[in-house]
Amino acid sequence: MRNRHQADPQLDGIDGASVLPFAAPMPIHASHPPTMDAALARLAAVQPSAYARTRNAIEGAVTGLSPYITHGLLSLRQVLAEVNARHPLDVQHKLVYELGWRAFFRHVWQHRGDDILQSLHAGPLPEGAYDRELPEDIRQARTGVPVIDRAVETLYTTGTLHNHARMWLASYVVHLRKVHWRAGADWLYGHLLDGDLASNHLSWQWVAGTGSSKPYVFNAENVARYAPTDWHSFGSAVDLSYAALDAWAHASSRRAKPETSALTGFGGMEQPAVRRAPGSAMGVTAPEVALIAGKKVWLVHPWSLGPLPADLAPDTVIVGLYLKDFHDVWPWSDARWAFVDTRMAALTPIRWWTDVASLAVVLREASAVQGRWDQHLRPWIGCSSSTEPQRAPAAPGMAPAAGGVDWVPDSPLFPEVPLRCDSFSQWWRRAVKGLQTADDLLAQAPDPDPVGSASLVATARRAPGP
Ligand SMILES: Cc1cc2nc3c(=O)[nH]c(=O)nc-3n(C[C@H](O)[C@H](O)[C@H](O)COP(=O)(O)OP(=O)(O)OC[C@H]3O[C@@H](n4cnc5c(N)ncnc54)[C@H](O)[C@@H]3O)c2cc1C
Repeated sequence: MRNRHQADPQLDGIDGASVLPFAAPMPIHASHPPTMDAALARLAAVQPSAYARTRNAIEGAVTGLSPYITHGLLSLRQVLAEVNARHPLDVQHKLVYELGWRAFFRHVWQHRGDDILQSLHAGPLPEGAYDRELPEDIRQARTGVPVIDRAVETLYTTGTLHNHARMWLASYVVHLRKVHWRAGADWLYGHLLDGDLASNHLSWQWVAGTGSSKPYVFNAENVARYAPTDWHSFGSAVDLSYAALDAWAHASSRRAKPETSALTGFGGMEQPAVRRAPGSAMGVTAPEVALIAGKKVWLVHPWSLGPLPADLAPDTVIVGLYLKDFHDVWPWSDARWAFVDTRMAALTPIRWWTDVASLAVVLREASAVQGRWDQHLRPWIGCSSSTEPQRAPAAPGMAPAAGGVDWVPDSPLFPEVPLRCDSFSQWWRRAVKGLQTADDLLAQAPDPDPVGSASLVATARRAPGP
């Protein structure tokens, strides 16, 4: 059977993904420098009251923290602790609630594993009613529907997209153009700086109605309320009543055909390349056993780019890791590679491009191997069971001298909800039950290992899970 992570030729929304190394200079998006200083500056600038009032607006006071959270420069706990120290928050505050959405999607991923990459339940139409390819006019921002073309242009030029714009884009793709959500999700994932398999693929399912109770639809009036003028889409395919849009979501015919650029006055843009391998200019190499033989190793990977633990033994070798197995399936834009590798290079000059089997052979020579756990690693290095482990075991044969990789789990913000919840509201009620304030929440699961302070080995033994 096909591994769910494998690109499905029918559902692969990523055309033209390159397997060749690229040597061009790497683009860094100015809005998100890949540094701890930039992450902390953004965190210090968060204004929770303005956030709660304006977060639905494209130009509202959103935090822009997601690339830093996705890549482990900041944890949800750290974000809330910092903001709450300046502006004490109620636990029901909009910002806490939105952080909860990210934690909820991780909860679903932990329980359902790779099943999140398939429709969780039936949507408004049979799967066969949807195309498996994302049309060129959407990829090239020339649908003629201003809100869609602006969203795609923003995605390509900044590597980020406001939540509302992601919802509009996904809804248009699935319900009006009848493209399978998975094709859209894979394409969007490849271009985002914050691409996260749980938040992205489950949000697409929420919009599609395969992970929620009904399809999400939007119209031109909604866009006009929350977006700048050049996004307004009166007179386009989305200028309908909600009843009519809902009917389209339940009908198998396509509402929107590619229109002229008359409405946008925008000629579109080329889809940037996405790549399945790091560029040759990045200085990433094959594993070298001589560098780690007999030594302690701390593994750094794309989802653990926060500060190194302060008490690492001085002779510990820091090794950065790009797993070929992962990128064979999930290519990234040049901007994402640049973001991740610039930060990883600041942590270590040793960065390896390798498959799991070769890595296991090399790490066997180390005296001990540790790293921070992230669920993105699970299909490749962890356990394949969806309901299991709080603590991921090492891949068979991995670093047996050390008894496997000692994965250190992150300190969660929300208390573990052991029962699988299929809706956010179900999960939220349980996660914040009996709590009034963000202080109460932060006190629930005190951070046993604020990054860089406690003993890694001790933390690994006592922390409850990722
Ligand atoms: C179709 C679609 C695809 C998405 N793909 C991703 C993705 O790949 N990676 C990703 O991190 N988020 C994704 N999201 C969720 C959300 O859009 C982004 O987290 C948010 O826009 C990031 O911007 P921000 O940091 O300014 O968010 P803010 O609104 O400032 O929120 C602060 C933090 O809370 C979390 N958060 C806020 N809203 C959500 C949400 N709805 N779902 C999950 N977490 C949330 C994020 O960690 C975010 O950084 C997706 C949403 C949709 C509708």
